[in-house]
Amino acid sequence: MEALRQDCIICHNPLSLYGSVSIKNGVMCRDCVKKISPFLSEKALAEMNLEEVQQHLDYRRNNQEMLSKKKMEKLIEGAYSLFVDENREFLALSKRDDLAKENADLIPVKDIRDVEITRSYQADKENNVDINLFITLDNPQLKSIRVRINPFSNIARDSEEYYDTMKKAALIKRTIKKLNGGAPNE
Ligand SMILES: [Zn+2]
Repeated sequence: MEALRQDCIICHNPLSLYGSVSIKNGVMCRDCVKKISPFLSEKALAEMNLEEVQQHLDYRRNNQEMLSKKKMEKLIEGAYSLFVDENREFLALSKRDDLAKENADLIPVKDIRDVEITRSYQADKENNVDINLFITLDNPQLKSIRVRINPFSNIARDSEEYYDTMKKAALIKRTIKKLNGGAPNE
């Protein structure tokens, strides 16, 4: 007979009801889930098996170590600020300035394939919109990154805030494309 009580597939601590997340062949506790990149969606995580999750956690540990050796410079302040390292090889998009505490993902500039500005609407609020930056990557750990540029969700379409946010999104996009060595086409 199978035991009813389950342990976390990663750290083997008993699971609490709150904050546990299922992956393909087990369940992860809240403390282990916290170590996952914020850019990995819960849906993507649910489709990963134990080995893939362990590889991701190895990547996150390595990221933390790399981050501790880098001097990150803030290029653009925002809801997600844009940071770049001293060699302009890695960038980070983070809500907070303490990148080490956040373990902000170091995104290899060379892995960036595309940067797009996207808009998302909620079905019942069609006059409101979120403006996002969507980055497509060729990277074993991060396939894509989506960050919301407006600090608070659902801004009014065609408002001053909307145009300011679009300008900010365009500036971040241009800056990333420039770092990436691509043509700054709009
Ligand atoms: Zn755990």
